[in-house]
This record gives sequence, C-alpha cells and structure tokens, in this order.
Amino acid sequence: MNKLLLGCIADDFTGATDLANNLVRAGMRVVQTIGVPEGPLGADADAVVVALKSRTIPNYEAVMQSMAALDWLQSQGAQQIYFKYCSTFDSTPQGNIGPVTEALMEALEADFTIATPAFPDNQRTVFKGHLFVGDVLLSESGMRSHPLTPMTDANLVRVLQAQCQGKVGLIDYKTVAAGAGAITQRIAQLRAEGVAIAIVDALDNQDLLRLGPALKNLPLITAGSGVAIGLAANFGIQPSAGAAELPPPQGLQAIVSGSCSTATQRQVAAFIEGGGNALAIDPLRIAAGDNVASQALFWARPLLAEGPVLVYATADTQAVKAVQDQLGVERAGALVEKALAAIAAGLVEIGVRQLVVAGGETSGACVQALGVTQMQIGPQIDPGVPWCHARTASGEPIHLALKSGNFGGDDFFVKALRMLG
Ligand code: ADP
Repeated sequence: MNKLLLGCIADDFTGATDLANNLVRAGMRVVQTIGVPEGPLGADADAVVVALKSRTIPNYEAVMQSMAALDWLQSQGAQQIYFKYCSTFDSTPQGNIGPVTEALMEALEADFTIATPAFPDNQRTVFKGHLFVGDVLLSESGMRSHPLTPMTDANLVRVLQAQCQGKVGLIDYKTVAAGAGAITQRIAQLRAEGVAIAIVDALDNQDLLRLGPALKNLPLITAGSGVAIGLAANFGIQPSAGAAELPPPQGLQAIVSGSCSTATQRQVAAFIEGGGNALAIDPLRIAAGDNVASQALFWARPLLAEGPVLVYATADTQAVKAVQDQLGVERAGALVEKALAAIAAGLVEIGVRQLVVAGGETSGACVQALGVTQMQIGPQIDPGVPWCHARTASGEPIHLALKSGNFGGDDFFVKALRMLG
C-alpha cells in the first residue's frame, strides 16, 4: 500500500465530496471516509478526505473532532494537511474556521498558513480580501440570511481575525498574478511581520494554479475546494483518467430524493417527463404512522427490472411549508430522512447497486443506513458531484452518487445513471 500524500479534514459531508472530486480531477486517487476511521484505511489512495459534521457545532467540539481526524491522518503518514470549509466561508460568530485552523497549526507546529474559499468554477472569487458570490459580495448574497451561518461581512480578513488569536493578513491579487515566486516572497514577508494566516485573493483557476507551487512546503493548507486543483502537481501527479477509475457497476438502478432545492425539483420533473417510474412519498402519511417505506419498496420491486426508479419527497416551497406548519421543521425533516434512508437500504436489499441520492442531509442519512464508512471517488457527473464506490455494512459493493441540493443540471438523474450504463 502506498503512503498517503495529502490528508484532508472537511467540515461537512457533501463539502468533503466536492473537495475529493477536485483532487481526483487533478489526478489523485482519493478515498472519502465518513467520520474518523477506527482502523487503517485498507485501500490505496494518494489523498484521504475525512468528512466531519463540524461546521456549526460548538467550536471546542469542532476542534476535538478535527484533532482526532488529524491524529488518524498522521498515523496513515499524511505529508500535508488540508482543512476544507465551504466556499462561502460559512462560520458562526465563534468560528469554527479560526479555532480549528489555529488548533491544527499548533499541533503541526506550523507558524503560517493560508485561508481562501475561492472556487472560480462555482463563481466564488476573492478580491482584495473580499469574497464574491457570483456578481455580489458575500454579505449581499443569499448567505446574508442563512439560518445557521449568516454571513454579513464580505471582508474575510476581518471575519477570520474575529475568530483567531493570531494575526490575519492578505496576499492580494497583484501578488498572486505575479506567480509562485512572488507569492513565496510575500509569505516570507508576512511571516516576518508576525502574520500567522493569510487570506489569498483568487479570481480564476489560473490564480489557483499559480498558488499551488507556493504552498508546497506548508504543513497545513486551509481552503474551500478550489485550491485543490493546484496541489497534485506538488506531489508529481498529473491529471489522468486512471485516478477516477472505479470497479465495474453491477445490479439495478434507483434514485432517492429528499432535497427540495429548485435544482432538485427540476431534476425530479425532468425524470418524470422523460417517462421514468417515480413515486412521491407524503410526509403527513409517515407522521400518521403509515409504513411508507415498505409501501415504496412493494411498488419498486416489480419495476426495477425495467429501468431506474425514483422515490422522492421533493416538493415545492409551498408544499414543504404546509407540512412544516403541521409537523414542525425538524420533525418533518427527520421523519422524511428516516423514511428515505429505510427505502435506500431496502432498495439495496432487493438488488440496487447503483444509487443516486439527492440532498445533503438525505445523503448523510442514506449512507448511515447502508453502513457505508468509506468511498472511493470516481469520475465527475456534474461539477461537485462524482460517482463513488463503497461497500455496505454487509459487504455489498455499491456505486453511489450523492448530490447536494443545488448541484447538477436538469437531466442529472438520467445522465448519472447512463454514465454507468
Ligand atoms: P439539500 O441538499 O437540498 O439542502 P437536504 O437533504 O440536505 O437537501 O435537506 C432537505 C430536508 O428537507 C431534509 O431534512 C428532508 O427530510 C426534508 N424534506 C424533504 N422533503 C420534504 C417535504 N416534502 N416536506 C418537508 N420536509 C421535507
């Protein structure tokens, strides 16, 4: 088994997959683990992404979980550590980006690191330390009113400084445009000034590719998924189709959808309009005690041989609100997640081996129900969503595509399943 090159710690599940996807596209063979593994990896990989759920938990818990991930990655021989957060720098007033970064720096005896959520492929750019989401500042984007991590300041130097003990500085776009040599010089200058963490401007992928070589000797990198595109070359790795190779697909095909995002609503509609077999499940019937999962499986069983089936709770804002008014937001979410997870597990029991799941929380619930603890990352379906290969708790091989709400084109379901054939 080869030595691990890059060890990554991601603060949420679909964010981990997004990072893994970018590393694979750069040529690295990547495994994503669900939480910190209890034993050795048992697979060949250049990079491992440990997926935590630490974005919005109390900051001391986020630090503890991240340190446990670091310990495990170091025990696997990781040569460099990458702390991955959201490309909209999602954080609570207490952190957790700053506290986790500083704890990792201390453990790694690193006196300097960078921080940049730039991900130009997804219209996240950083200019003079300010984060833009598409054409607007972060603080004027929808993130302004996020229920858990409202981002009301686009000045990342200020945002991160408020979460950190050490000094936060900036490597601006002019330095980045001048190339790796200029960035390295600027890092030396910032270090001499006592700056511990520098926000880095990046306007396009070329900036990230210029940044990559300047990060070669840092023990710790902190970033969104964008910086990943420039790192593989530091380890002598070039993009190659082999990095995304997965075992051949087997079995039947199905889709389970619990995301109510507008993108997923369009994907469900497109699948139905295309003549696909689809069944809607009703949260109110779950709440009333109907065994919706076994009814869905009874419906699906004879249809699976004809082609992929879709079971969905996806509904428009009005319908979701009506359900939430009756059941409460949390209870509605939990009931639907539990039912869809039971359906996913039941589908696998009756022979599904190629499963698409739509929704971040829904994906987490389904992966847990299947007993999946790690996934090999394969080829990209649409930006941010790759096919993955895993084994269930009972050892069945399965291909999984886990799609966070807003990702994917309208034809995502059919496109994903056609890709496997
Ligand atoms: P996304 O990635 O789009 O945010 P998630 O799966 O993370 O999707 O979140 C969607 C949430 O909405 C889940 O908790 C899911 O159980 C819940 N949900 C899905 N369908 C419905 C519905 N019809 N009514 C109420 N809640 C729903």
